[in-house]
Amino acid sequence: MAIITPPQAVLKPGEREMCSYCGQPTLMVGEREPDYAQCFGSDCGLRRPPSTTSGIAALFETVYRDLHLELLNGGTVKRFLTNLGVHPSVMARSMIGQVPEDYDVAARFESHVQQAQQEVDR
Ligand SMILES: [Zn+2]
Repeated sequence: MAIITPPQAVLKPGEREMCSYCGQPTLMVGEREPDYAQCFGSDCGLRRPPSTTSGIAALFETVYRDLHLELLNGGTVKRFLTNLGVHPSVMARSMIGQVPEDYDVAARFESHVQQAQQEVDR
């Protein structure tokens, strides 16, 4: 699983930094949300959510990242979209993905469900 690191420096909106996934200086800080960034590498497109993202939003962000990386790494969905004429950069910048055959959804949600149960039990 790829790890998107926190910002290495305070950047101004529109400035770019190194993407920790693809290794290119193509991670651009958002114009309206300077704590949010997206990679504009031609075959990456990963997003780094604001550092304040937590709870269920952070969980869904992780699931999105898992599925997006599976799509970018190839497979049936990427081939299908390529055959339809969808450019790889469009796939990279879209919030789409493919569920890996061995994806363990329960494992992703387990700690969050336990934490929620603990909150209910209080
Ligand atoms: Zn990237």
